[in-house]
Amino acid sequence: MQKTQQLYEGKAKKVFRTDDPDLYIVDYKDDATAFDGKKKGQIAGKGVVNNRMSNLLMQYLSRQYGIPTHFVEELSDRETVVKRVEIVPLEVIVRNVAAGSFSKRFGVEEGTKLLQPTLEFCLKDDALGDPMINESHILALGKATKQELDTIADITMKVNEGLIAFFKEIGIDLIDFKIEFGRLPDGSIILADEISPDTCRLWDSETHEKLDKDRFRRDMGNVEEAYAEVFKRLGL
Ligand code: UDP
Repeated sequence: MQKTQQLYEGKAKKVFRTDDPDLYIVDYKDDATAFDGKKKGQIAGKGVVNNRMSNLLMQYLSRQYGIPTHFVEELSDRETVVKRVEIVPLEVIVRNVAAGSFSKRFGVEEGTKLLQPTLEFCLKDDALGDPMINESHILALGKATKQELDTIADITMKVNEGLIAFFKEIGIDLIDFKIEFGRLPDGSIILADEISPDTCRLWDSETHEKLDKDRFRRDMGNVEEAYAEVFKRLGL
């Protein structure tokens, strides 16, 4: 599998075409951004952690929970072959414990366990700052169909169940996460993008130490160490 033309360079990854029109190669960078790109930096080794962790978790979710994903083959520490999809322009967020924007919006102290997992959507639109959007808005704007949203909600709750169990085994509480979905040419919905400390809040189960991108967002220090710790606990 060969990279041909670069299609896109995002905040954390580059995406390349390949000689197969149905496959792309993703190349993970160490660049980090936060607050709609207003904060910029580098986290040494992050690209390797995110690539290998995301691949491990996608394979686990596929095997154990029958979840369809874009993962095809890990090519190197930073490069993975994925299925070409059209990204559904939604950030799908699940929360098990209050943190971040949820804590701010509803005045709930960070760390408060929620009575049940929440599901929310944000419209993927950098210029608008990824505003929160509800199901009726999504349908009215034609961003996804009802059937697609039902599939997305169903898969997302299974992803939450699978990830909670997986992280529990390695002494980590899954506080919240964001995932994205893609449409294959036949219209079916699959899990795409990444699952990593950039996109999940991961707290040590015992000490509640943050092992995720909040260390970068909030200038807490030991950012590289936190990513390396998750990598190690995953057995990578
Ligand atoms: N998240 C993400 N990308 C975004 C916004 C949020 O991956 O553009 C993840 C974030 O890492 C966290 C979860 O989604 O695990 C919920 O984030 P929240 O809405 O609290 O926003 P934040 O406080 O991160 O701005």
